[in-house]
Amino acid sequence: MSGKTFYIETFGCQMNVHDSEKVVGTLLAKGYAQVDTPEAAELVLYNTCSIRDKAEQKVFSRLQQFKRDAGKGKIFGVLGCVAQQEGEKIFDRAPHVSLVCGSASYTKFGEMLVQIEAGNRRVTGLSLDTEETFDTPFTSRDNPHRAYITIIEGCDKSCAYCVVPFTRGPERSRTSQSVMAEARRLAESGYTEIQLLGQNVNSYRDPSPAGWDFATLLARVAETAGIRRVRYTTSHPRDFVKEIVDAMDSNPVLCDHVHLPVQSGSSRVLASMDRLYTRDQYMRRVEWLKTARRPYALTTDIIVGFPGETEVDFQQTLDLLDEVEYDSLFSFKYSPRPNTAALAMPDAVPEEEKQRRLAILQEKQRAIQIRRNAALIGSVKEVLVEGRNVALDQWIGRTSDNRTLNFTHPAGDSDGLVGQYVPVRVTRSGPNSLVGESAIVV
Ligand code: SAM
Ligand code: SF4
Repeated sequence: MSGKTFYIETFGCQMNVHDSEKVVGTLLAKGYAQVDTPEAAELVLYNTCSIRDKAEQKVFSRLQQFKRDAGKGKIFGVLGCVAQQEGEKIFDRAPHVSLVCGSASYTKFGEMLVQIEAGNRRVTGLSLDTEETFDTPFTSRDNPHRAYITIIEGCDKSCAYCVVPFTRGPERSRTSQSVMAEARRLAESGYTEIQLLGQNVNSYRDPSPAGWDFATLLARVAETAGIRRVRYTTSHPRDFVKEIVDAMDSNPVLCDHVHLPVQSGSSRVLASMDRLYTRDQYMRRVEWLKTARRPYALTTDIIVGFPGETEVDFQQTLDLLDEVEYDSLFSFKYSPRPNTAALAMPDAVPEEEKQRRLAILQEKQRAIQIRRNAALIGSVKEVLVEGRNVALDQWIGRTSDNRTLNFTHPAGDSDGLVGQYVPVRVTRSGPNSLVGESAIVV
C-alpha cells in the first residue's frame, strides 16, 4: 500500500463511536492518513451495528456501492457487530471485503493491519474468547471537550431480543487504576466532560485488588481535578443500586441525567424479555431519582411489538410513560435478531401493528416533552457550548440534564464560546430542545 489513506464510517451506539476513535488512533500511529470520502481512500472501513435489521442492511448497501472499486487497489474492511455476527459469510456476500473484525478482537487490529499490508485478502478477527479490553494509547478523539472512557465491555445478560452478548462477548471490566489514569490524562489535555461507557455500566466490577463497584468509580472519577461534568451510559435497571443515586447527590459534577432503559411497562413482557426486573422494581428506582436531593432528567428505551405483546401490555407501557414522565426516549419496533431467544417465541406482532403502536407511543411522549420543556421557561441553566449555528445566529449548548439549549449571546459573536460553560436563561421551548439567551452579565 503506497499513500496509506483510510476512510471510516461508523454506525450505531456510542460504544461503536468510541471504538472507531481507537481504531483511528491505531491507524494514525501506523502512518495512515484519514480522508473524508471512501473514493479518496485506499482502506475503507465500516464499523457496523446489528442491533436491528435495518442497521445491518445499511452496511451491505454501502459495500454494494463500491463493489466495482475492488481490485483497483481499494481494500474494504467490516468491523464491529455485523462482522462478529456474520463472520466469514461476509466474504461470500461481499467478495471484495478483505478484513472482517469483531469488536472483541480489536486488540489484534494492529496485527491484522500487518497481514493486510502483506497482501493477505482474507483476514479475520472473530474470537469472542477474550478477557482483554481494547485499551490503546492511540485514541483519536472527535470532540475536543467531551471524551468517552470505556469502563466495561461486553454483556453477560441475556435479554431475549438482543444480539449484543453474541457480538460483543462476555463482560470485561477495566481496572480502576487504568480508568482513573485515563481520566487524569484527559483532564490534563483540556477535556472537561467525561462520559463513562459500557453496555451495562452498573455491573462494573474492578478486577484489581481495589475492587471498586460502579458507584465508587463514579464518585472518584468525578473528583478528577479539571473535570466539570461526568456522564455515564447505559444503566441496566436490575444493577442500578441506590448507592449510585447517593454518589450523584453528593457531587454535582455527576450530571443531572440518568438513562434507564425500561423496554416495556408490562411485567409479563419484561419476564418474557428476561429483563430480570418487574415494573414495580423499576418504579422503585425511579422513585429514588424523583425523591433525590436535586432533580434528575430521566430517559429510557422502549421496544414495541415484542412477540406476545398484547394491547393490554402496550397500554401498560403507555401508562408507564404517564407515570414516569420521561424527559426523552428512544423507541423501537421489535426486530428479530439471529441467535436470540425471542426468535423462537410465538405470537409475532404484525408489522403494521408495531408501526401503529410506535406512532401512538411517540405521540404521547411528544406531548409529555412539550409539557416538561415548557416548565423550564424562565429558569437559568448552565450549558457546555458545543458549537455555533451561524444561520440562526445561535450558540449550541448542552445542559447537565442532557438537553440541547440553543442561545443568543450579545458580546462579539466570535468563536470564543465553544468549550466554555455559560449560564443561559430559557426563553422558549419545543418538544426536543430549548432556546434561551446568555445570562452572563457583561
Ligand atoms: N445495554 C442496554 C440495556 O440493557 O438497556 C441497551 C443496549 S442496546 C445497544 C440499545 C437499545 O436497543 C436497547 O435498550 C433496546 O431498546 C434496543 N434494542 C435492542 N435489541 C433490539 C431488537 N432486537 N429490536 C428492537 N430494539 C432493540
Ligand atoms: Fe442487550 Fe440486555 Fe445486554 Fe443490554 S443488558 S446489551 S439489552 S443483552
